[in-house]
Amino acid sequence: MRIETLLVHAGHAPDPATGAVSLPIHLSTNFARDADGNLPHGFLYSRSENPTRRALEAALAPLEGGEVALAFASGMAATTAVFQSLSPGDHVIAPNDAYYGTAKVLREVFEQWGLSSSFVDMTNPGDIEAAVTPRTRLIWLETPSNPTLAVTDIAAAARIAASAGALTVCDNTWATPLLQRPLDLRVDIVMHATTKYLAGHGDVTGGALVLREDGELAARLRLIQTVGGGVPSPFDCWMVHRGIRTLAPRMRTHCDNAERVAAFLATHRTVEVVHYPGLSDDPGHEMAKRQMARYGGMVAVQIRGGAPAALAVVARAQLFTRATSLGGPESLIEHRASVEGPASRAPAGLLRLSVGLEHADDLIEDLDHALKG
Ligand SMILES: *Cc1c(COP(=O)(O)O)cnc(C)c1O
Repeated sequence: MRIETLLVHAGHAPDPATGAVSLPIHLSTNFARDADGNLPHGFLYSRSENPTRRALEAALAPLEGGEVALAFASGMAATTAVFQSLSPGDHVIAPNDAYYGTAKVLREVFEQWGLSSSFVDMTNPGDIEAAVTPRTRLIWLETPSNPTLAVTDIAAAARIAASAGALTVCDNTWATPLLQRPLDLRVDIVMHATTKYLAGHGDVTGGALVLREDGELAARLRLIQTVGGGVPSPFDCWMVHRGIRTLAPRMRTHCDNAERVAAFLATHRTVEVVHYPGLSDDPGHEMAKRQMARYGGMVAVQIRGGAPAALAVVARAQLFTRATSLGGPESLIEHRASVEGPASRAPAGLLRLSVGLEHADDLIEDLDHALKG
């Protein structure tokens, strides 16, 4: 079955109890036993398992070509579960431009628990290989990366991890399974902030892990999920599940619009550089062409004149909303260095755009006005 069809149908069937076509939301925290003490539907207590969460997990797994999916209360809860599955003394290699929360949880939470990490430039597989130590147990990938849309060769990184006896995890939030399928490239776990494109409307926080195999690692992560308790509410599961069903047409429009916006920005005199792997002269273009179907809805642009000039552009934007996050219907604009604070590695003049579902001409007119000042 093609992914567009899976997006609509996976984890979805009329409710056997009522015939309801839309997925029911099961708010109950507990489930009745029969007279013999058995649980007739297999559900005991909502933290362990819930019917609405089960439907969401059943929808997520096949999208990535995985055997099993685990839903979490946020992207960071999913990420944290992965690091919690490691042991003190283990070593993690992560991208030097990883999502700031990923880097922050490694440095400020897990270091204290004896998990060490190295942050490297993952555009060069040689740099990943050079960072491997005898204690390396996990290589974390994020591609295209945040905020400069750097592209990592997923298959090469997975080969390096396999020969080191380490797991490979890929944060696939920006690409979505429509544009990139890391499990097919021998990654072990795909992580999603479902908050973003999968839910797609900027109104729910969620995370997920999808594993290639339902084996020991899945059991360990399921234990952390259910006993650690970082699970999403039934309503949040329903919201994410509902969003997934329209991912294909939304993503098509995000990509169409981002391509138009990136091409426009690349010709503008006040623009120093546009980071978008869909542009033929982008350093990540050739790699992205090999491992992605299209290039996504995120664009970063460096404005001539550094932070003051970039902030002035943000201030003049009218249609682009000044807000963080990404993947919703409305276009967003953000000066990453101010948002990330003093530890930020984002270039001073860099603006990150989440290109939404408006008409591309309106977005370009708004940016044209904001850039001219
Ligand atoms: C937002 C995001 C996360 C974290 O997800 P939350 O739901 O905010 O916890 C992780 N990775 C990437 C790439 C993201 O964009």
